[in-house]
Amino acid sequence: MPDVAQTTPATKRRWPLGFKWTAIVAVGIFVTFAVLSLVLVTVMRQILITQEKNSVNDTVSAIEQRLSPVAADNLTIATVVPRIEGTTNDYGPDDSFTEVPSDSIFSDSVIQKISREDISLAIYDKDGQQLFSSRHNDQPLVRTTTTQIEMIESHDFNGTIGRAPIVSTVNGKLIGYVQVTDQMSDFFATMRQVYELIAALCVVALLISMLIGFFLARRFLKPIRLITKTIDVVNEEPQSSIRIPTLRRNDELGDLVTEFNQMLDRIQRFIDQQGEFVQDVSHELRTPVAILEGHLQLLNRWGKDDPEVLEESLAASLQEVTRMKSLIQEMLDLTRADQVDVQFPNAVCDINQTINQVVNDFRMIHPEFVFTLDNDLKGETWVRMYRNHVEQVLIILLDNAFKYSTDRKEIHVSAAENSDGVSLAVQDFGEGISPKDRDRVFNRFYRVDKARSREKGGNGLGLSIAQQLVESYHGQISVDSALGHGSVFRVDLPVITAAAADKLRATEDAKPKPIAAIKSEL
Ligand code: ADP
Repeated sequence: MPDVAQTTPATKRRWPLGFKWTAIVAVGIFVTFAVLSLVLVTVMRQILITQEKNSVNDTVSAIEQRLSPVAADNLTIATVVPRIEGTTNDYGPDDSFTEVPSDSIFSDSVIQKISREDISLAIYDKDGQQLFSSRHNDQPLVRTTTTQIEMIESHDFNGTIGRAPIVSTVNGKLIGYVQVTDQMSDFFATMRQVYELIAALCVVALLISMLIGFFLARRFLKPIRLITKTIDVVNEEPQSSIRIPTLRRNDELGDLVTEFNQMLDRIQRFIDQQGEFVQDVSHELRTPVAILEGHLQLLNRWGKDDPEVLEESLAASLQEVTRMKSLIQEMLDLTRADQVDVQFPNAVCDINQTINQVVNDFRMIHPEFVFTLDNDLKGETWVRMYRNHVEQVLIILLDNAFKYSTDRKEIHVSAAENSDGVSLAVQDFGEGISPKDRDRVFNRFYRVDKARSREKGGNGLGLSIAQQLVESYHGQISVDSALGHGSVFRVDLPVITAAAADKLRATEDAKPKPIAAIKSEL
C-alpha cells in the first residue's frame, strides 16, 4: 500500500486577548507620547537654534559696524585691536568725529559675547591674513561677499558660524573679513538633558500605559471570562440552570450578559417544551396503538375464520389509523406554526373575502346548521398573514363550534374593524367551558372530556395550533364561555393598508421561490 502522507495542520500560536489589549493600549499611549515629545523637542530645538543664530548675527554686525569706518585699503592689527576693545576715537565717513566710549552698552555687549568660552571672534585682512583672534580658532576662513550665518553639525565641528565681509564706509573698498564661531555648548548641553528627560519619561509612559492596558483588559475581559465559564458548565450539564451573574454596568458588555442569559432561558424553555411534547405525543399515540394491537390480535386468533370479527376489526383498525394520521398531521401543523413569521414574512390576506368563503364552505358541509354571518368589514381588509393560516384558524374554531354544539344547531360568526385592527368572533350555543378549563383549552392535548372529544375525532391540538398561528402573526385569541350555554372564541389581528399590502405582495413575488415550492409546482 502506498504511504499516505500525513499532514497535521500547523497549530497557530495563541495570543490571549488580555495580552493583545495590553500591548495595543501600551503601544498606543507610548507612540502618542513619543510623537508629541518629538514634536515638542523639535520646536524647542528650532527656537534655540534661531536664538543662537541671532546672537551670532548680532556679534558679526557689531564687529562690522566697528571696523567699517576704517578709511584704509586694508585692515591692520593696529586699526583692528583698539576698535575691538572699544578704545579708539574715529572720524566717520562724513568727517564727523565719532567717539566710541569704552564703557558703552554697545562695547559691553560685544565684549561680553566674545568673552563667552564657546564663542570665538576672528578678524582677517582682505588677503585672508588673520589679524585678531579672541581664542584659538581652528575654523578656516571662508571668504564671502554677504553676511552668512549657518549652523554646522559634522564630525569635527558642531555649532554656528557667522561670516561677513568688512567694507569700508569711507572708501567703499573691501578691507577684511570677520568670522564668529559659536560652539553652542549651552545649547547642546540643554538638548542632551532634554533628550535624557524625554527618554526617561518615555520609559515611565510605557510602564504606566502597560499598567493601564493591563487593568483595562482585566476589566473588559471579566464578563467574557464569566461567559466562557458559564458555557463550560452548560456544555457539561445542558440542563443546568446556571446563568452569568448580572454585571452592574450599563454598556455593551452588560447588554451581552443580559442577552446571553435570556438566550439560555429561551433554549431551556425550548428544551423543556420539546421534552413535554415528546411525552405528550407518546402518551397520545399509546391508546390508538393499543387499540390497533388488540384488533390485530383478535384477527390473528379468530378473524381468519369469522367474517364478522374480520369486518369489525378491520373497520376499527382503519378508524384508528385515520385518527393517528390526523394526529400526526396536527402535530406537524403545530410544529410548523412556530416558524410562520420566518416562512411567510411578506404574506398578506384579504380577511373579509376569506371569512365569507370559509363560512360558505361550512354551510355546504353542514346543511343542518344555521350559520349567521355578521360581517361589518367594508371591502378588502388586509392582514399580514398567510391565507392558508387564516383559513386554518377559522376552520378550527368553526369545527369546534360544530363539534361542541348540542341541541341548538346555530353558529354565529362576526367580523368588525376597530382602531386596533380586525376582530373576529365565532359563537356557538353548545356545552360551553367551565372557568377552570377556560385557560387550559389552549394547552396541547388538553380536552375537557377526553372520551367525548375522542368520539368526535378531537386530539386536543386544534386550539393550540390556532393560538400559535395567531400569536406568531402578532394577534390575540381568547375565549368567553358559560357552561351549558355556549362559547365565543375571539381573534384580534392587526390590519394593514391596501398600499402596504400591495408593496408586500410585490416583494413576495420578486422573491426567489423556495425549492420545495418550485418542486410542488412541477
Ligand atoms: P379538539 O381537537 O379536542 O377539539 P381543541 O384544542 O380544538 O382540541 O380543543 C380543546 C378542548 O377544548 C376540546 O377538547 C373541548 O373540550 C374544548 N373546546 C374547544 N372548543 C370548544 C367549544 N366551542 N365549546 C366547548 N368546548 C370546546
